[in-house]
Amino acid sequence: MLRLLVTCEHGGNNVPAAYTPLFEDHRDLLNSHEGYDIGAKELFQQLEGMAHKSFCAETTRLLVELNRSLHHKKLFSSVTRPLPAKEKEQILQAYYHPYRSRVEGLVHDFVMAGRQVLHIAVHTFTPIFKGEVRQGDIGLLYDSKRGEEQRFCRAWKERLQAVDPSLLVRFNYPYLGISDGFPTYLRRKFTDAEYMGIELEVNQKFALGDPKQWQQVQQIIRLSLQQMLEPYWENEQQEYA
Ligand SMILES: [Zn+2]
Repeated sequence: MLRLLVTCEHGGNNVPAAYTPLFEDHRDLLNSHEGYDIGAKELFQQLEGMAHKSFCAETTRLLVELNRSLHHKKLFSSVTRPLPAKEKEQILQAYYHPYRSRVEGLVHDFVMAGRQVLHIAVHTFTPIFKGEVRQGDIGLLYDSKRGEEQRFCRAWKERLQAVDPSLLVRFNYPYLGISDGFPTYLRRKFTDAEYMGIELEVNQKFALGDPKQWQQVQQIIRLSLQQMLEPYWENEQQEYA
């Protein structure tokens, strides 16, 4: 009785027309990993076909950060933080709340219908951060206090590495699953049995490197997730048989 929800909070670096002047002097920043998650939209598109529902946000995270809570100091970026409070509120009303409410509402509806939700939030991370090369190809982020998430991630890692043993798959890397992110917020609203929130973090070196290898990595992720879900779908078919 599992429902798959796939989201992508940092899918693009689009700037809404009204804010174009604000970003005029920040083209480089917009096109960098700070403007969006390079490759995330492509990966999202590989996975959305499997999902019962999917959402991809393509407005730059530099306008407002959809993967942060309202209280977080990085909710607004260096570009938008200096804006007057009223304008920031308008940004929240137009871009932040609609996205967050839609996804939360969907989880709520599935849960009310007696389903368990598996939420995969697709992200990518920059290969070099503050001068250090990050040691990892794929990160699976979860809350280690949530047994369902932990079990799923352990099994998924095994699947990934069964398909390609050379892949370095790490748990809660390069961030902790319990850091301030959208799944962390949703975990507070729904129990372990109702909601599994997993952030999939893939190294941008693939999207920035050899296109063939990037395609392969995406296929491996898609195939392994499909294999993970098969037992759930089979059970469901039996239920309706
Ligand atoms: Zn991201």
